[in-house]
Amino acid sequence: MDIDRELKELEKYASEKNIPIMQKDGIDFLTNFILKKEIKNILEVGTAIGYSAIKMALVNTDIHVTTIERDETRYMEALKNIKKFNLEDRITLIFNDALNVKLEDKYDLIFIDAAKGKNQDFFLRFENNLDSDGYIITDNMYFHGYVEMPEEEVPSKNILGIVRKIKDYTYFLENHMVYKTTIYNIGDGIAVTERRG
Ligand code: SAH
Ligand code: MG
Repeated sequence: MDIDRELKELEKYASEKNIPIMQKDGIDFLTNFILKKEIKNILEVGTAIGYSAIKMALVNTDIHVTTIERDETRYMEALKNIKKFNLEDRITLIFNDALNVKLEDKYDLIFIDAAKGKNQDFFLRFENNLDSDGYIITDNMYFHGYVEMPEEEVPSKNILGIVRKIKDYTYFLENHMVYKTTIYNIGDGIAVTERRG
């Protein structure tokens, strides 16, 4: 199988169906981070069709990804895609609302990329699953630029609600006693959180 070609197919499919998979600079940052920090055990919240889970698993053959998706159609597509890449042994898919999932394992990376208004809920739900020297990475901290925009210019109440939750989450991260966070101006804004020294 031509891995690069299959990945391109996934990217094309996602773009045609408006499935918000990570963009190139974001996914490059994430996979480089995994390589550099020698991350082995990853928890992802928000699988969609499995694109980022597959990209992360492909960084190294000893990486394992557990990933959670609540939408049945996407979950089924992710299953199919993970099979296609022969990654069934290294990617565990959970079909459920992440806020109902309880995990026992520890992860050295928790990647949050699901409902943008619920980042803090996901963080609180899984922080006990973080290895003592692990990282939590959150995608879409700028939420398509709406977070930076004056609030009166945000096009809908719905979006404004999410924007405010992302602002609260940013405050929560930046003022946390236990964790420190850096937000990178990459992709749609990527927050990297780790325990304070
Ligand atoms: N990480 C993927 C993109 C995820 S898109 C990639 O880059 O390839 C966000 C996904 O999160 C959507 O498919 C949505 O159905 C899912 N999602 C949103 N809220 C969720 C929740 N509470 N539990 C599980 N999945 C959720
Ligand atoms: Mg995202």
